[in-house]
This record gives sequence, C-alpha cells and structure tokens, in this order.
Amino acid sequence: MTIAYPDTRLHIDGAWRDSVDGRTIDVTDPATGTVIGKVAHAGRGDLDEALAAAEKGFTTWSATGAFDRYKLMRRAADLLRSRADAIAAIMTLEQGKPVAEARSEVMSGADIIDWFAEEARRAYGQVIPARVGGVMQIAMKLPVGPVAAFTPWNFPINQVVRKLSAALAAGCSIIVKAPEETPASPAELIRAFVDAGVPAGTINLIYGVPAEISEYLIPHPVIRKISFTGSTPVGKHLAALAGRHMKRVTMELGGHAPAIVFDDADIGKAVKVLSGSKFRNAGQICIAPTRFLIQDRVYEEFLDGITRAAKAIKVGNGLDPETQMGPLANERRIPALEELVNDAVAHGARVTAGGRRIGNVGNFFEPTVVAHAPTGSRIMNEEPFGPVAIVNRFSTLDEVIEEANRLPFGLASYAFSRSAETIRALGLRIDAGMTSINHNGLALPEVPFGGVRDSGYGTEGGSEAIEAYLVTKYVTEMAA
Ligand code: NAD
Repeated sequence: MTIAYPDTRLHIDGAWRDSVDGRTIDVTDPATGTVIGKVAHAGRGDLDEALAAAEKGFTTWSATGAFDRYKLMRRAADLLRSRADAIAAIMTLEQGKPVAEARSEVMSGADIIDWFAEEARRAYGQVIPARVGGVMQIAMKLPVGPVAAFTPWNFPINQVVRKLSAALAAGCSIIVKAPEETPASPAELIRAFVDAGVPAGTINLIYGVPAEISEYLIPHPVIRKISFTGSTPVGKHLAALAGRHMKRVTMELGGHAPAIVFDDADIGKAVKVLSGSKFRNAGQICIAPTRFLIQDRVYEEFLDGITRAAKAIKVGNGLDPETQMGPLANERRIPALEELVNDAVAHGARVTAGGRRIGNVGNFFEPTVVAHAPTGSRIMNEEPFGPVAIVNRFSTLDEVIEEANRLPFGLASYAFSRSAETIRALGLRIDAGMTSINHNGLALPEVPFGGVRDSGYGTEGGSEAIEAYLVTKYVTEMAA
C-alpha cells in the first residue's frame, strides 16, 4: 500500500505557509527509517507573527458567543470523523502505531471535541447574595487569554485535542507547538477546525526547536496560559519558567504506573486487560502499566500469562492490518530501553519475553517481560516509555501500597481484586491521579485525566478541565 505523506506547513493568522526563512525539518517513517517528508521550522519572525495572530484571535474568539463556539466545534468534530481513514494512515506513517489504533485515536479525538463543545455552554459563574439591598454580586468565568500548548509525539492528535478543545470551549486563542516527529496528523486536526470556519488567528500551529520556542513564548506578555505534556524534567523546567512570569500552567508529565494483582482476582482478565494496556502504542503511553506487582499465590500464573501474551504479539509495520504493535516512534528510545533491560539483568532480573531490538531496519523492539527486577535497578525507578512490563511479587496489602507509592510519580495505577475491602483501600491509599480497578477505564473525555506529585498538576478531562482555561472575574454592581 502506498500512501502519499504530505509536507506540513505552519498555520498562522488563518494561512498555511512555510517559515519566513524557508527552513524545514525532515520527517522519518519509524518503520523503515526513510525520510518521508518535511515540516516547516518556525523562526523568531514566525513566532512573532503567531503571537500577534493569537492576540488578535483572542479578541475575535472571546467575543464569539458560546453557542456559536459550540456549533463550530461540533462541525470540526464531524469533519475529523469523516476524514478518519486518511488521517489514520498519515499518523501511522509518521508515528508507527497500527492503523486501527491511529483510527481510534482520530475518532476519540472527535469525541473529545464534542464533549468540550458542550462544556462551552456550561461555563457557569455565580450570582452571590449581597449583604446590602440593591447590590448585585456576580462571579463571571472569562477566558484566561492566549494559550501556548506543547505536545508530544506519542498521541499526535490526542495530546493536542485535549488542550485545543478546552481552550476553544473557554473562548481562548491558542498557539500549538506540535511534535516535529509526527507533524502531519496534528496539522489535519487543525485543518478540520479551519475548514469548520474558526476565525483567523484563533488557532496557530508551529513547529521548530522545542526549547527555543518555549523559552520565547512562555515569558511573552501575550501568552497567559501554558499547557505541556512530556517528560518530568522538561515539565519542571517549563513550570519554573512559567512561575517566574506568573503564567497559569497545566502539566501532564511522566508516570511509572503500578498494576497490582491480588490472589483473589480474575487472573485471565487481569492478564488480558493489562497486557493490552501495556503493549498498546508500543508502551509509549504515560498511563501504561509498568510495575506489575503480583501477590504470591498467583505470581507464576500471571507471569506465565503475560509472557505468553507478549510473545504472541505480532510486531510489524503499522500499515499492515495484521500488525498488533508497531515500531517505537523515535530511534533514541531503543538504546534507552536496552540499557534499562540490561541493567535490570545485571541486578539479577530475568527476561521471560523479548528484551532486544528486532532487525536493523526501523525502530522495532520486542514486547518484553522482565521478572524479579530489584527495587534498586534503574527500570524500577525510571519510566521505560516502551513495551516493557516488570513483573514482581508481593505478599500483603500494606507492602504493595508502600511499593506503589514509593516513586515520586503519581499518574495512573491499576489493580485487580474481588474483595470490596481491598478495592476500597486501593482507591483511597494509592497516591496517584487515577486508579482503575478490574478494568481499564481511563482517559475518557468526561472523566478527570491528570497526575499528582512529579506527574504534574491540573486535569485534562472531566468537568474541571475547562477551568484551567478560565479566570474568575468578580463584579459588584449597585444601582446608581
Ligand atoms: P524529551 O524529554 O526529550 O521530550 C519530551 C517532549 O517534550 C517532546 O515532545 C519534546 O518535543 C518536548 N520538549 C523537550 N524539551 C522541551 C522544551 N525545552 N520546551 C518545550 N518542549 C520540550 O523526551 P523524549 O525522548 O521525546 O520522550 C521520552 C520521555 O518523554 C519519556 O520517558 C516520557 O517520560 C516523556 N513523554 C511523556 C509523554 C506523556 O504522554 N506524558 C509523551 C511523550 C514523552
């Protein structure tokens, strides 16, 4: 199957265009290692134009009625759905994930737009009873201002759509710095909004050197809100910069999710749900289960089950409909994973499935299971962000909660048990933003999505998500 891969341009002030100085960055197919296209590389002049456009766009969009914002967003969602097959193929070419996963990302992106479109109509304030007759006290919810959003390559559309939809619903304009590795599918998301009729300047799309762009945009007086998804070290750096300039911030950072399986659980279901969640998108998911903590009596059964599940996964080019797991999006993750696995083995762990690169064309890595990795090994402390499950054993509830909460991360967590008492204890005592018990029910548009501690702050889902893009303005009026 040959699919045309488009070059990607910037979108600034309603126009698709190259960068002022004509610079570009190559885009590579992670399944073949070949260059498939280019993306425009924004320089300072482009950033200044994007900032001016966002300032103008904010004036227009914040004055657009909530019902009109809702209608336009719904139209963009429908356009996105109608283009899902074409966009999915582009995403697979640049990111590597199986085309069915890419398609489902596009479709769930449309659902996220719909959900936030509806939230636009519910950004309620308050009328507060006054102490004095003739006084009206109003707390209004107003858009915070132009937003700068920085998004990574693991979910090229999903990572943008959460920020973009919440910002637009609130009445904010936005500059999206989308991923240079996977530029064309997020550009198609923006195109759906442009074709739906979003006014010029409301959405601006740029690519370039991430650090140069964030150092310029975050302190800039036009920008009032920052949203970043990526690694914890970069997130801490950007949050500090934003703090120095008193900017509102949402941070969705790394994780190292515990997945706890108790003796009394349905082990077959636990293996199926957790291996599916682990190896989807080749494990390049911030909420992927990573530390599998299995109670003594069912340890061997679970290890055997997940080892067999890992070995059965068909790895290949995501465009092949038979493929269940594609390549890693970035070649740099292969040595990173090899080092983590080798270090675990050097500390006494045992590899029961995979552990190595596949071939020397493309960034393919075997679905991997590592058993008995000691607490001191790197993989038990650093996010692998790849297709590696670590399977360790535990004996008691207190012991496993201590291990689950040992790391500074606190994003997702998973557990399987049939005991109501255990389930209640886990829900309350695991120190994470999200806990999913006996199924994987995370990341729906209508539920909270976010972490605590080193995994960041703010939620990108649920009824609170729009709040991150709103400010409260209090007005008190007395009849003259
Ligand atoms: P990285 O830390 O180099 O980059 C992570 C993301 O941040 C990329 O999208 C990158 O473009 C962006 N970035 C880096 N420096 C930046 C800066 N100064 N200003 C603005 N943006 C910047 O890591 P990587 O090799 O691309 O990915 C590996 C790690 O990143 C993983 O271990 C994982 O922790 C994290 N990550 C997390 C998510 C997530 O969904 N939370 C997604 C992708 C990557």
